[in-house]
Amino acid sequence: MAQETIFSKIIRQEIPADIVFQDDKVTAFRDISPQAPTHVLIIPNKLIPTVNDIQEEDEAVLGHMMVVAAKIAKQEGIDESGYRLIMNCNKDAGQEVFHLHMHLLGGKNLGRLIG
Ligand code: 5GP
Repeated sequence: MAQETIFSKIIRQEIPADIVFQDDKVTAFRDISPQAPTHVLIIPNKLIPTVNDIQEEDEAVLGHMMVVAAKIAKQEGIDESGYRLIMNCNKDAGQEVFHLHMHLLGGKNLGRLIG
């Protein structure tokens, strides 16, 4: 059984967070330590610790996370200028919170990450 993290408390609104979107499948809230003018975390309400733990039954929620990311980018006014979506998995990627999350970063030139 996976261990709950602080993100479960944010989903249940037991601790404060700047939630920008929530429905029955996902929650999106502003990162407490923003690395760009827009830095939102999009997470499944279901506890999935890492990308390695994604099951076939999770395909719909993973797809929904992408749909929600694009909607939030539009809400934030960064859909045309551009943004980056990142999911860190485990130690070498620097994952700190073991509740799957997608970083949505934008609002400035993020530079090239690869190549
Ligand atoms: P990771 O390094 O695991 O991919 O990213 C975890 C992110 O969660 C970090 O960017 C960190 O700033 C953010 N974070 C950690 N704890 C909290 C919290 O309690 N509230 C919010 N809003 N963000 C958090």
